[in-house]
Amino acid sequence: MSTNPATGAEAGRLPVASPTDVEATVARARAAGGWWAGLGVAARRERLLRWRTRLASRIEELAELVHVEGGKPVAEAVIEVVTAVEHLDWAARNAKRVLGPRRVRTRLMLAEFSAHLEYQPYGVVGVIGPWNYPVFTPIGSIAYALAAGNAVVLKPSEYTPAVGQWLVDSFAEVVHEEPVFSAVHGLGEVGAALCRSGVDKVAFTGSTATGRKVMAACAESLTPVLIEAGGKDAMIVDTDADLDAAAAAAVWGGFTNAGQTCIGIERVYAVEGVFDGFVDRVVQRAERLTVGADGTDIGPITMPSQLEVIRRHIDDALARGGRAVLGGADAVQPPYVRPTVLVDVPEDSAAIREETFGPTLTINRVRDVDEAVARTNALRYGLGGSVFGRRRAMAVAQRLRSGMASVNSALTFAGMSTLPFGGVGDSGFGRIHGADGLREFAQPKAITRRR
Ligand code: NAD
Repeated sequence: MSTNPATGAEAGRLPVASPTDVEATVARARAAGGWWAGLGVAARRERLLRWRTRLASRIEELAELVHVEGGKPVAEAVIEVVTAVEHLDWAARNAKRVLGPRRVRTRLMLAEFSAHLEYQPYGVVGVIGPWNYPVFTPIGSIAYALAAGNAVVLKPSEYTPAVGQWLVDSFAEVVHEEPVFSAVHGLGEVGAALCRSGVDKVAFTGSTATGRKVMAACAESLTPVLIEAGGKDAMIVDTDADLDAAAAAAVWGGFTNAGQTCIGIERVYAVEGVFDGFVDRVVQRAERLTVGADGTDIGPITMPSQLEVIRRHIDDALARGGRAVLGGADAVQPPYVRPTVLVDVPEDSAAIREETFGPTLTINRVRDVDEAVARTNALRYGLGGSVFGRRRAMAVAQRLRSGMASVNSALTFAGMSTLPFGGVGDSGFGRIHGADGLREFAQPKAITRRR
């Protein structure tokens, strides 16, 4: 059962799957997957585009469910669903171009041979999802895996099972012949059972700690995994940055979805000289954010246990000499957290080193961009990042040890269906979205032919 984090009322109720249920679902998906793969790319495209149209016509309904189950403001939930629909559309339309069979030239090939490359589906892909973007995140795996010819079994987060089931049901309205896309529900142990069920690949999105467990479980059967894990993304503000634009992006990147965003901006490094002007602008914007159940900018914290993490990070930063220029010690008022901006926070604080996952932002001053890059890259997390400036900004973005970066914007890479999405280090490996995202769910097969 899931609950509305703002009211505590029941939001969704789905049966918990036993290990036997998981195995039976995977077996049905395997049989259906043979049919789906055999349909061919054009027939899959046509069905996936029909699903896209169905989702596009019910955006408000799905956004409302995301709001009720996860607490996200409706306006942000609409953005999430629209972005997911865009990815579904791109995956469906581009599978043939990216994964279609092709003849390849090889320099060493003898004249009587030709060389062929094909991308074949894995079979059944187990998708394990988080609650913070319960549509956008799993669709990034589901749409690309389906377009590549796989069947999918989804284990949605226990905080947002109704959203996961809604996706499955809406797909079944369009593709009713076989259970190509199904779901199993429950706590982490159901995800663990899915890893051990004989699926052919696991696409996991969630925390780094759980990612390690998923990898360990999959190692037993050498099941390949894709790990999209946590982050601690930084923004760097250089001396020639547009400070108004940088402040707007820091507030959007730091506080959207109440800060519960894997690619959310949690740390800012502003170069001495622009530090004060930048902090003032951030505070002016952030203090206008409204907090509450709906029609507001910042909704409730979805997981009650996260409130303690956020409180600990704020208290620890203040105890070590950091200063709150907005919010602070009494910001945590369950189930809400008022926007908090902390400055001059020691680099060994939890608020700098660990994922906070709340509406808090640290802003530290640095001598120059070299120091900013060194501090950004000091953590093992490496998901995204953002750089504001003119002359050096692209070069600085290239130096970030991360899978993604935005220059003079924040989080924008997530919406681009043509770009790969994923991290390095403790943020995981493998990519969803774009051509790399399609290839993630297909296995290259090399064939040589003697004439
Ligand atoms: P989580 O790790 O607690 O749970 C994620 C999923 O894993 C859930 O469905 C959960 O039931 C399942 N799970 C738990 N234990 C398991 C186990 N032993 N084996 C298999 N599955 C198991 O994460 P969460 O709290 O749902 O999500 C928040 C985290 O996800 C944050 O760290 C955030 O940064 C990260 N995240 C990353 C991305 C990305 O693309 N990199 C996107 C969204 C969220």
